[in-house]
Amino acid sequence: MFLTMKENVVIIGGGIAGMEAARQLLLLGYNPIVVEQKEQLGGHVGKWHRLFPDMSSAQDLVRRMEEDISEANIFLETKVNSINRLREGYQVMLSNGVNIACRAILIASGFKLFDATRKEEYGYGVYDHVITNADLEAWFNGNADPRIPHAPESVGFVHCVGSRDLKAGNSQCSKVCCMTAVKQAIEIKERFPSARVWCFYMDLRLFGKKYEDFYIGAQQDYAVQFVRGRISEVSEALGGQIQVKAEDTLTGKPLRVRLDLLVLMSGMSCNPEMTRLARMARLDIDSDGFLKSLDNIRSINESNRPGIFFAGACTGTKTVPETLAEARAAALDIHRYLQKGL
Ligand code: SF4
Repeated sequence: MFLTMKENVVIIGGGIAGMEAARQLLLLGYNPIVVEQKEQLGGHVGKWHRLFPDMSSAQDLVRRMEEDISEANIFLETKVNSINRLREGYQVMLSNGVNIACRAILIASGFKLFDATRKEEYGYGVYDHVITNADLEAWFNGNADPRIPHAPESVGFVHCVGSRDLKAGNSQCSKVCCMTAVKQAIEIKERFPSARVWCFYMDLRLFGKKYEDFYIGAQQDYAVQFVRGRISEVSEALGGQIQVKAEDTLTGKPLRVRLDLLVLMSGMSCNPEMTRLARMARLDIDSDGFLKSLDNIRSINESNRPGIFFAGACTGTKTVPETLAEARAAALDIHRYLQKGL
């Protein structure tokens, strides 16, 4: 099978960045071809339950986005095998045998959730009642999880797991996990109003519209307790509870709590697929390990290669609205590039 060169734009990654860019490119009259490794579109957002600060349904968002791109060519469970430069544009070879000639490629390969087993001190994969933010979202979405008690009376959230952590090889802030912790704490309180809920944080990064209100509401309306301090020890107590020792750095006092559930806020890390694509297309990698934009002010969607563009978390940690805005900007950049006939 050979798809023609006219108007094709290959989009690598079928998460929300790739989907939003595909929608815009369809509206602009192009033929977006979305290549996704997984068996479904939506990426991480497709597995999430509700989105802050509106508490809107992530599944609904992805469903609507899928409907919007129903006319696009979409290849699921498909990898890019190679990207070769042509005299004008590129030839992209897919693992399903399809070859696509195009003048523009959008990389929207997203991020990988930090593997919490690498932070051994928190006991993920070792203790029965330690889970990650992603595990909790799956449970909110109705997937059974034996690690989550039927009626937890005490739940803790640990911020910055694998982010802002030089030992873990990632000094970047993941941007979304403070708010995810606040959101998940509220969702836990909605389901189990009598549960005591703690958030253990180093700094709270609540920079977006309505984020601060959301955080204040978590304290005032849901009695979520925020403790500034690093956890020094996690262990399993008798009866399977999780014992957490921390120092409250605001009061200077040590703290010891027993929890029925400990949730680790795993951050965003580089997607290994992104590194593979960078090698294939000779793209620059930035000092943080993510793909390197031409610059970080005005050309964040542009790469060092002509006709190859970026959108979303392949260039760094992003919120959902930032990702969608960047995808729209990337579609416009691609349109401008193709109109110039370069
Ligand atoms: S958003 Fe919050 S929890 Fe996430 S890395 Fe940044 S400071 Fe840590």
